[in-house]
Amino acid sequence: MGVRRVQAEDVFREANERIGEKARELELQQPIPFLCECSNKLCFAHMLLTLEQYAEARSDPQRYLTIAGHEVEGAIVIAKDDRFALAEKI
Ligand SMILES: [Zn+2]
Repeated sequence: MGVRRVQAEDVFREANERIGEKARELELQQPIPFLCECSNKLCFAHMLLTLEQYAEARSDPQRYLTIAGHEVEGAIVIAKDDRFALAEKI
């Protein structure tokens, strides 16, 4: 295995993991503003989600949650509504 390039979506996802942990720890009022996990590293869009919605999207490590219309390189959209999209890397 070579050195893997750090992808924007993975950086956003790690940040979201910390946001989720903090929100649980501090029992913040929901919904919580999570970051869009698309491949555009300049994207600072937020998505308001409950911890439950977030945990559901996070249940598969290949999946990324974005604002509808934002793309994750190398992933296909497997679910979407008018606000959010769930993309999966294959
Ligand atoms: Zn985005």
